[in-house]
Parts: sequence; C-alpha cells; structure tokens
Amino acid sequence: MQVIQPTDGRLIEIFSSIQGEGPLVGFRQIFIRVSGCNLDCHYCDTDFQPSSLCKVEAIPGSGKTELWSNPVSLDRVAAQIDQFTGRHPGLHHSISITGGEPLASVVLLENWLPRLKQKLPIHLETNGTLPMQLARVIHDIDLISMDFKLASVCKAATPWDEHRKFLQTAGNKLLCVKLVVSNSSTIEEVELAARIMQESASVADLILQPATIAGQTVSARHLFSLQECAARIVPSVRIIPQTHRWLGLL
Ligand code: SF4
Repeated sequence: MQVIQPTDGRLIEIFSSIQGEGPLVGFRQIFIRVSGCNLDCHYCDTDFQPSSLCKVEAIPGSGKTELWSNPVSLDRVAAQIDQFTGRHPGLHHSISITGGEPLASVVLLENWLPRLKQKLPIHLETNGTLPMQLARVIHDIDLISMDFKLASVCKAATPWDEHRKFLQTAGNKLLCVKLVVSNSSTIEEVELAARIMQESASVADLILQPATIAGQTVSARHLFSLQECAARIVPSVRIIPQTHRWLGLL
C-alpha cells in the first residue's frame, strides 16, 4: 500500500526534452509538470488538471512513459532525475518546473526545491501572477521565465498589478518576460508591458511569442510592429515561436 506523506506532490508528468520557448530554446531540460493553475487562459492547451496518475518518461528522450500513482514522493522524483542525469552526464541544462502554475503549489516547491537544486539549476516557468508565493521560494530558484497574460489573447483582464509585483520580486533571477501575442494584440498593451519591465529596471529579454491557436497565424508585419514599439522602451526584444511544436515534441 502506498503511504502518502504531506510533502508528496500531484504531478502531471516528468520527462526530458528540449526547451521550446524563450532564451533557453534548444537546451535539454528535465521537465516536472505540476498540476493545477490559478488562471483559465482562452488559448490554453496544457493538460494541468489533477489526475490520479502521473506520466513519467522511463528513459530520457525515449518518449516511452510509465504511469505513477499520484501523489508522488520527492524521493521517487529525485531518483528519477538521478537516473536521467546518470545516463547522460552533462546533457541537461536545468530542471524546468512548469505547469499549470507551479506557484499555485508553493508548499510543494518549498519542500522539494532545496533538494532538487542540488542536482541541477532550477528554472521556473510561471504565469507571473503569484508574487507572494514567489517570495517564499525565490532563494531556491536560479532562473525565471514569466508570462504577461495579455487580455487580447487570454480573453480576461490583464493582471497588471500582479505582474508588476512579480517582476519586482523576481529581481535578477528573471530570464525573460514572455508575451503570447495574436493579431488582436495591441501596440498599447505591448508598450505597457515593456514600460512595467522598464520600471523594475529589468534587463531580461522580452519575448514575443506568436500564439499557437488552431487555424490562426500571426502576421509577420504585426509581429514586427509589436517588436518595434517594445524595442523603443526595453533593450532586448525578440520574436521566438514555440519551436518544439515543429519537432513534434512535448
Ligand atoms: S496560466 Fe498557463 S497553464 Fe494556466 S491556464 Fe494560462 S496558459 Fe494554461
């Protein structure tokens, strides 16, 4: 019988793949996808609902998965990471903690990150809306990729205040701010995002990521316009689509 500990976590999956988005694109990472999210973005195609089972890649990069019962213990996750890194020393750049929204499980992160960071650097992928939770674990995080959730794409009001506070909390751990944009995204909202980055003296990259919505593409001309306006405010503005989709990867 499985003995459940209070520090066990409900995960969606653990696997080894390349990072498909943002400045770390192409690096191999170990992904730990935590269940649950505090938002409900219109374009979301991520499976983050809690389930009784967690998919775990048996051998890194094989795509062959086994199923573990949730919740999962830190000991088991740590052993799986050791298996991955033992097979391929030097391959993995970092552990990407992703979701859903990992900070919605902040108690889990408080329990797990001190041990996981002994194995590889910790990269947090977050929607950038839970600054108080970030403050509780930031000392155990090396790199943060945060989203700004634009109303034009998410179909809900942009949480500007939360994003502002989150940026201030992230400080120099911030690697990038990612804006998923569509043809509906406006110059005004991209400018405001850039100004909030500028206010916090962030030197992180601002990434414009064309939304991947079935049957829709974002025009290159529109992407260029958004890049041109943001680049007048912050120094490093890049257009990077989701590259892992081209390779048919997770
Ligand atoms: S924050 Fe991310 S996981 Fe959560 S609903 Fe939005 S896109 Fe989906």
